[in-house]
Amino acid sequence: MSNKFVYVFGASKTEGSADMKNLLGGKGANLAEMCRLGISVPPGLTISTEACTVYTEKGAESIQKLLDAEVRQGVAFLEKEMGKKFGDAADPLLVSVRSGSRASMPGMMDTILNLGLNDEAVEGLANKSGNERFAWDSYRRFIQMYGDVVMGLKPESKEDHDPFEAIIDELKEKKGVELDTDLDVNDLKEMVAAFKGMIKSRLGREFPNDPWEQLWGSVMAVFQSWNNDRAVFYRQMNDIPGSWGTAVNVQSMVFGNLGQNSGTGVAFTRDAASGEDIFNGEFLINAQGEDVVAGIRTPQQITLEGSTRWADLAQVSELDRRTKYPSLEEIMPEIYQQLLKTETALENHYKDMQDIEFTIQEGKLWMLQTRSAKRTGAALVRTSMEMLAQGLIDEKTALLRVGADRLNELLHPVFDGQAVKKARLIAGGLPASPGAATGQVVFFADEAEAWVAKGKDVILVRQETSPEDLRGMVVAKGILTARGGMTSHAAVVARGMGKCCVSGAGSVRVDPKARTMTIEGVVYNEGDWISLDGSTGKVYEGKVPTKDAELSGDFGKLMELADRYKRLAIRANADSPEDAKVARNFGAVGIGLCRTEHMFFEGDRIKSVREMILAQDEAGRRSALAKLLPMQRGDFEGLFVEMAGLPVTIRLLDPPLHEFLPHDEANQRAMAAEMGISYDEIKHRVDDLHEANPMMGHRGCRLGISYPEITEMQSRAIIEAALNTKAKGVDVRVEIMVPLVGTVREFNAQAKVIRDTIEVVFAERGTHMNYLLGTMIETPRGALVADSIGKQAEFFSFGTNDLTQMTLGFSRDDIGKFLPDYLKDGMYEQDPFQSIDQKGVGLLVKMAVEKGRAARPGIKLGVCGEHGGDPASIDFFHRVGLDYVSCSPFRVPIARLAAAQAAIGQ
Ligand code: PEP
Ligand code: MG
Repeated sequence: MSNKFVYVFGASKTEGSADMKNLLGGKGANLAEMCRLGISVPPGLTISTEACTVYTEKGAESIQKLLDAEVRQGVAFLEKEMGKKFGDAADPLLVSVRSGSRASMPGMMDTILNLGLNDEAVEGLANKSGNERFAWDSYRRFIQMYGDVVMGLKPESKEDHDPFEAIIDELKEKKGVELDTDLDVNDLKEMVAAFKGMIKSRLGREFPNDPWEQLWGSVMAVFQSWNNDRAVFYRQMNDIPGSWGTAVNVQSMVFGNLGQNSGTGVAFTRDAASGEDIFNGEFLINAQGEDVVAGIRTPQQITLEGSTRWADLAQVSELDRRTKYPSLEEIMPEIYQQLLKTETALENHYKDMQDIEFTIQEGKLWMLQTRSAKRTGAALVRTSMEMLAQGLIDEKTALLRVGADRLNELLHPVFDGQAVKKARLIAGGLPASPGAATGQVVFFADEAEAWVAKGKDVILVRQETSPEDLRGMVVAKGILTARGGMTSHAAVVARGMGKCCVSGAGSVRVDPKARTMTIEGVVYNEGDWISLDGSTGKVYEGKVPTKDAELSGDFGKLMELADRYKRLAIRANADSPEDAKVARNFGAVGIGLCRTEHMFFEGDRIKSVREMILAQDEAGRRSALAKLLPMQRGDFEGLFVEMAGLPVTIRLLDPPLHEFLPHDEANQRAMAAEMGISYDEIKHRVDDLHEANPMMGHRGCRLGISYPEITEMQSRAIIEAALNTKAKGVDVRVEIMVPLVGTVREFNAQAKVIRDTIEVVFAERGTHMNYLLGTMIETPRGALVADSIGKQAEFFSFGTNDLTQMTLGFSRDDIGKFLPDYLKDGMYEQDPFQSIDQKGVGLLVKMAVEKGRAARPGIKLGVCGEHGGDPASIDFFHRVGLDYVSCSPFRVPIARLAAAQAAIGQ
């Protein structure tokens, strides 16, 4: 830490620069940089983030002592630059005080404007400006902000009105006027007195008249705000470390509310929604910055073109536009030209789209802020690719600038931005699978199908979903579950289908019997309309209109560019030809996981699956399996055709068998009737299959070990399908995968069944073909003994869902209950089922990679857990040297970009 805490900026001297963001915060660093570029910026000083750290550690008194001399020097610099004195009664120097951390944290703390005013200085300002109303309005605004932010005068309860606004309302009522602007200077004087009186009576302290006391109070309030609940929460959401601290910017005031040749505005160098390369923004004449944000008056457009476009949308006639809402370009052409020159200079300098704030004080343009502009995912892609084409940035920068996750927005339908603002938010859950969905609530999968068959749009609402619900999930527009995490069934399946899903919405009480869900006392019935935003986890009442996402040409260009940089191959998890097709269109170069059990729910094959489970002996099972064989073979043929020329990894049956049986009496009775056996028999078998902990029970390769005939049937189906497809001239690349292996003997036992079966088929057909036989590494033991397994298995695919579950001892389906507490308290930084726990689970992966390669040089290594689609995890998998990641089809483009970013970052 250096001894210097204060850095000044202004026309004659500037100590900071853009690359000092860590020390000066984004705002301070950019203000300094603009000064260096010769742009008119009101002079100021930035107190560094290191001072904030000292404040947090040692308190206000200590830091004030440390800062005192430097701040006084800084203020003296401002006085010289502005030709005014701080605290001067005749012509006071007024300042604003604003926070500014390394990362922008909008709304963390309110701004203090007009600091330096008091009972004497307000008269000076009135004389000097020749505008008494302006002076008193500035004073009352200052007291209001200071009273709230620094002195902490807040409403007494959350139902109460803001105490300052209450006084303003009273005054307006007394005067019979509607707007603040209708109050005259005497009213404002009365308001100031009332504000001060209230502060005294409510807080027992006077509003400080001394500008230095005002300044120190404000600086400490900004430091303090770094640790208020709002800021802490924001930091948690955005992974911003608390140790960063905030800087404080003290800047000379300029006024946009000094009459008709003053004003204030906000502009973007390109369009923040579409990314179009068009300068745009809004301004207000005779206003302070906060008025633009508050949206009380209709702002005008900066450019003539923007103004015409706006008038079109707002249905304002050209005459009204020209007379009531003219553009800045029309009414202040010279200022407009200066602004245009400045925005171009700023964008060229920063080589990124900028969001700028400006004030015009009596015909002079001042820049108050510039920062890299927040924009939609579509705009990110477009601005990056266009800036690359314009030669502003290089390929690596273009790739790194688009947050891979932001591509989500380009891949799924989205809610109409305006409509969603008006919608009533009723609940929140995990943003399990992105997209926007609107439909009528149904509580059962079969009813979802029935409703959809009648042409209705439905949202399937369940406590949680199981494979039995799959058909309902397929037809529903979206899925809402009250329980479950990001890798719960509903979430995984929905993402695989690219279907909108909100999971683990804790406030939703589902009563399937009554066919109702209750959210905070409000009852929603079957057939009621709701809307889900799978990207934010928000649930709205009623129908919120959606619009289709657009896949622009720039998106394709970005993907091509990513492919040139990435090393990891990107495959998809897909269980049907339809999913495989989507995946291939999105650029997947293979299937990394086909979960064969998902095929067991298609059509009426569930009947044969159940027959197999209920069979008394091997002969019974074999006869049921014989019925399944042709169906499975057909499924695989479809996949091989769709993925011609690319590898397809097919995993043998994995889930515990009871997942295929109904659990409630009504469905068990229906099944009994259909199969011609007694209800008791079925109930008995279901009870028999019950397990205390099914995720660690009779599943994975353990099924094939108990019932080798299942493995036999599946191996035969796979290899027959492959031979049939190959015979048609298709290039087929088969990889067969054994799930949940923990010891090499398990693998060997299954490998023998598979190889023997395949040899029989080869002999029957008088032909043969190459195939790979590998294993999932998804139990901790499997990872620990990866060297011995690697000698036998030709590839590893890390099942990081189960590996996480078993390494952490967290049930994938129950984390919703405790994970929020863990995340809040920072015990895990992120949901470990979403982003791989690099230090723990990651270590097992790393070790197994090394052991696997040592045992079998050239062994193919991939990952097929949900982490395969998570950018931070992809970065990790790149670093540990995997060959590929496999993710749900809709995440393939995200993974392609993330893999390129990982390669560039290394
Ligand atoms: C895994 O465990 O990571 C995996 C891919 O298998 P599943 O999710 O089907 O258990
Ligand atoms: Mg698994």
